[in-house]
Amino acid sequence: MQVRTRFAPSPTGYMHIGNVRTAIFAWLYAKATKGKFILRIEDTDLERSREECIQVILDGFEWLGIEYDEGPYYQTERMARYKALIQQMLDEDKAYRCYCSKERLDKLRQCQLEQKAKPQYDRKCRDLKERLDCPFVVRFCNPKEGSVIVHDLIHGEVEFQNSELDDLIIARGDGSPTYNFCVVVDDMDMGVTHVIRGDDHLNNTPRQINIFEALGAKPPAFAHVPMILGSDGKRLSKRHGAVGLREFRDEGYLPQALINYLVRLGWSHGDQEIFSREEMIELFNLDHLNKAPAAINSEKLLWLNQHYIKELKPEIVGKELKWQMDKLGIDMTKGPDLREVVMAQAERCKTLKEMAEKSRYFYEDFEQYNEKAARKNLKPETANVLEQIMQKLEALKKWQPEPIHKVIIDTAETLGLKLGKVAQPIRVAITGGTISPPIDITLTLIGKERVLARLQKAIERCGRGVARGV
Ligand code: GLU
Repeated sequence: MQVRTRFAPSPTGYMHIGNVRTAIFAWLYAKATKGKFILRIEDTDLERSREECIQVILDGFEWLGIEYDEGPYYQTERMARYKALIQQMLDEDKAYRCYCSKERLDKLRQCQLEQKAKPQYDRKCRDLKERLDCPFVVRFCNPKEGSVIVHDLIHGEVEFQNSELDDLIIARGDGSPTYNFCVVVDDMDMGVTHVIRGDDHLNNTPRQINIFEALGAKPPAFAHVPMILGSDGKRLSKRHGAVGLREFRDEGYLPQALINYLVRLGWSHGDQEIFSREEMIELFNLDHLNKAPAAINSEKLLWLNQHYIKELKPEIVGKELKWQMDKLGIDMTKGPDLREVVMAQAERCKTLKEMAEKSRYFYEDFEQYNEKAARKNLKPETANVLEQIMQKLEALKKWQPEPIHKVIIDTAETLGLKLGKVAQPIRVAITGGTISPPIDITLTLIGKERVLARLQKAIERCGRGVARGV
């Protein structure tokens, strides 16, 4: 039997990382078993489904590099199928028309609550033989007795009494099918063998199993993945920082780091922390999934992110850096290759947002010096140092780290200064601040023309107003 898994988001909100993790597990399980992974958009809630949310999901998959083998299927395109099966269920007496008014149902509920009983439909219309000429919903004939045992691959056996389950509405008054019914029909039609989803759906599962059986289909295996909690153990929400997939990209995380992080959160393979995509696919199984919810740990995610910034090919990281630079509106047409910037900055940036912010000076002149740095490093007596450096750099034929390094060392020696006393003023002069990659690399990347112009400006700032070449 070929494994077929699916991810079935409702496009009613942003893509929460809890959902992303569930999607990754379903995808990995399909890959690990040489099965198929399906994407299905559950957009039947017309009031709440939004086009832009669908786009966020599709973009998210592309960014993560998660490919689906089938889909995206859209439930709104399958309405005729659901309606035909609702009719079939009615014809086979597996469902019935319920004519109860809202007033009656409200009253019933009120009475049940007063008697401290669980609010439930009392099945008044279940045995009604004649057809009435008034509005109705369609309800599923849930078995009245016995129980449903969910053999969950993560939670183990969970038993539900049928007496606790309502006769679920499967078609609303306007004939539109409801969520629990559509899910079952889709999973049946799409040959889904393993439903891997959030454990907020565990309570729906016995109802869905009963519907599968009524449709004469074998229910799939179920694996209900626990939630992700905030670092304080509370439900993950905006106050914990980024929660939506897009926000993680905005914050400068690499998809490789996020996938590795999310997979490891709740799944383990010994003590291993770092998994390449190939390793994950090879090693992933559902047996080592935790059933307890996992708390997010942003320190660890940052650590993994920097690991991937340093380890991945610079062109891969550079692609993501470009996205960040574009967002900042930095024109990259004149300036160093982004791969070089990644190599120079990897050690000192934990995110690509940080890297982009710290790399602006490679492409654009900065407006202002960091005042404290300028006051300390661009003093009248520094002008001479910068002038000497400038002259020597101007004469350099090869604009590369080694000869640049030599110029700086030689100047320091000639002037009897420590290297830092020369390098730091240069750094402030050409970056505006005191932090940058090694000075020779920084100069190389900024380029000769810009370096000379910025040195000139800094000399003027030093307070002597010495003009170039004078
Ligand atoms: N559409 C449901 C959701 O977004 C998931 C349904 C399922 O996985 O069965 O929560």
